[in-house]
Amino acid sequence: MKTSQGIRIKQPNEVDILRKAGKILSSIVVQLQGSLTSGMSTKDIDLKAEELIRQHKVAAAFKGYRGFPGVACISVNEAVVHGIPGPRVVKNGDIVSVDIGIIYEGYYSDTAVTVPIGNIPSETQRLLDVTHASLLRGIEQARVGNRLSDISFAVQSFVEMHGFSVVRDFVGHGIGKQLHEDPEIPNYGRPSEGPVLAEGMVFAIEPMVNMGTHRTKTLSDGWTVVTEDGKPSAHFEHTIVITSKGPEILTK
Ligand code: MG
Repeated sequence: MKTSQGIRIKQPNEVDILRKAGKILSSIVVQLQGSLTSGMSTKDIDLKAEELIRQHKVAAAFKGYRGFPGVACISVNEAVVHGIPGPRVVKNGDIVSVDIGIIYEGYYSDTAVTVPIGNIPSETQRLLDVTHASLLRGIEQARVGNRLSDISFAVQSFVEMHGFSVVRDFVGHGIGKQLHEDPEIPNYGRPSEGPVLAEGMVFAIEPMVNMGTHRTKTLSDGWTVVTEDGKPSAHFEHTIVITSKGPEILTK
């Protein structure tokens, strides 16, 4: 079933599958996160992610998506999103954003975390904390009867209150039988606008937060998005479902 705005409403049996998919994905991410150490290349991290995906007998959602070569997008420091796994070696003091998606029984799940390597500067730690907290603020607004932009406004206002900026060039999205479904979910905007939220909507909410300017540019590899000013950027994402009792995080 679709709403007039083209947002797919998932039936309870579909939500059950998405719940299992989210559980599997979050356990993959927890294991991957635990294995990250300085000295690994982003390619090593991707290979580890691929091994975990194989062990859990699910399919990688990103590999081959519009030609993307990895199973995870791995974005270091000034890289915002869509980093291609490669020779870059992560070192003490870096932050590594890992964005990963899987397909389980025909349904997609999508999540991202930014992981500190060793000891990071306190201002960078604050960037991670604020970005993660902004995601939870956004999710908190994913309730029956709220409007879509209540999520966007909650993220942006929280981030800016802490002196950081939200990326405008990339947004969250609906998710289900496809990786990217309607609606687009910006991390900025005024409250009380857009579609009314309903039970059974499944969203990937994913604030990308920059320490400096919100502006980004794409490198010549055609994928890696970096901050225009070279300052660090963090990214956290959860797949969630709106239930009658409130938002439920599926990738927890
Ligand atoms: Mg996503």
